[in-house]
Amino acid sequence: MALLVAREACRLWHGSSVETARRRILASEVSHFGVDEAATILGLSGDAAVSVPCDNRLRMDPKALSRAIAECHSEGLIPITVVGTAGTTDFGSIDPLASLGAICRNQGISFHVDAALGRGLFASPRSRHCLRGIEYADAVTANYHKAFSQPVSCGAFLVR
Ligand SMILES: *Cc1c(COP(=O)(O)O)cnc(C)c1O
Repeated sequence: MALLVAREACRLWHGSSVETARRRILASEVSHFGVDEAATILGLSGDAAVSVPCDNRLRMDPKALSRAIAECHSEGLIPITVVGTAGTTDFGSIDPLASLGAICRNQGISFHVDAALGRGLFASPRSRHCLRGIEYADAVTANYHKAFSQPVSCGAFLVR
């Protein structure tokens, strides 16, 4: 849903003249496979999901994000959204949301936070600071069958 909204917002900003093949989604190299899957479902090109390198604690490196955005622009490609992950599935690492959000805001790129796992941190007075910067997000996803231990499949998609 988040990537669909980003794709449509890109259409509004850049017009339908931007070919589908030029649209890019930037997410860290350890983001959820759903990002690739969604790009395919949305009919974007096979290489639409750009893998942004992480630091040694498996968090997206903001400098690498800036480089990836610059590379897209130099190749005439349009980054339609950046996906920050708050709690990666395999490692639990949390991307530096405030830095990524600030880059997105400066560049006029929408910012999605995949908080499928990490959203539960909000419930903890001790740990909620880990989500600092999530307020930059244009959209957030949360997953209640993971982070909130619900026994039925249950997710939330929040938009600004
Ligand atoms: C599980 C997970 C998803 C996908 O959520 P589903 O609602 O189970 O499809 C997305 N992102 C992350 C980080 C996840 O761990």
